[in-house]
Amino acid sequence: MQSSGLDALVLRADVWGENDVLLTLLSAEEGRFCAILKGAHKLNRFERAPTEPFTWTSFDFYRKNDMRWVRGVTMKEAFAGIRLDMEKLFLAAYLADVAYELSGEHEPAGEILPLTLNALHLLSEGKTESRIVKAVFEMRAAAVSGYLPDLSACLSCGKPTGADGACLDVMNGGLICSACLHKKTANAPLPEIGELGERHVLCPLTAGAAAALSYVVNAEPKRVFAFQLTDEPSRDTFCRAAEAYLLHHLERGFLTLENYKRIVASPQKYTL
Ligand SMILES: [Zn+2]
Repeated sequence: MQSSGLDALVLRADVWGENDVLLTLLSAEEGRFCAILKGAHKLNRFERAPTEPFTWTSFDFYRKNDMRWVRGVTMKEAFAGIRLDMEKLFLAAYLADVAYELSGEHEPAGEILPLTLNALHLLSEGKTESRIVKAVFEMRAAAVSGYLPDLSACLSCGKPTGADGACLDVMNGGLICSACLHKKTANAPLPEIGELGERHVLCPLTAGAAAALSYVVNAEPKRVFAFQLTDEPSRDTFCRAAEAYLLHHLERGFLTLENYKRIVASPQKYTL
């Protein structure tokens, strides 16, 4: 039986038969793939730890019956801070779902893997607000997956959007300055569904939030989280716009996102 090693992020760990676990993994070289952890239920929690979801682990595999089986594991990063906080655990599950959705099976993972690892690291570290980590991840994940918006100027008049803020035109992937927005809405209210059936989704942004979105989609991969939004209106509009942008372009919602929002809304109901 041929053996092979690979570093991979555990996205999911699902019960497989009576004693085994089916791992869904994401590696730089092979993208998303599955492997079976045999006899998982006989392992103690320390032995299982490297194969828990949201763990970065070095795997040794063997192949049998056209399947990949885990021979050995060495944990490289547990992101321990996530595991002490239910809100972060729920958010990590959503990030893993998005990484699953945006990665191809047996195709190099590209930026989505380091982006997910960086987001998990920041969540674990706890120095950056979780909702900002989520929003940066969402916007950048959309941008590197083929939904790159042009945030350099107003889509309508071509001028910089300026200090008055702007709206993110989600489906057209750009900004509408406040002057153009006032002109449009003065003539006729924007319908949610256009005449041709296209959706208009406009997310208001402060000037700071618009600048932050532009930074996130254009920054070097390692610098994508390296900025600060100091005022609450900017943080709030930035987060709302990033989530709307990703979900509308993926044309789907996520149960893990709904679960995360539920726990944020009433954290006292959930304890570890
Ligand atoms: Zn304009």
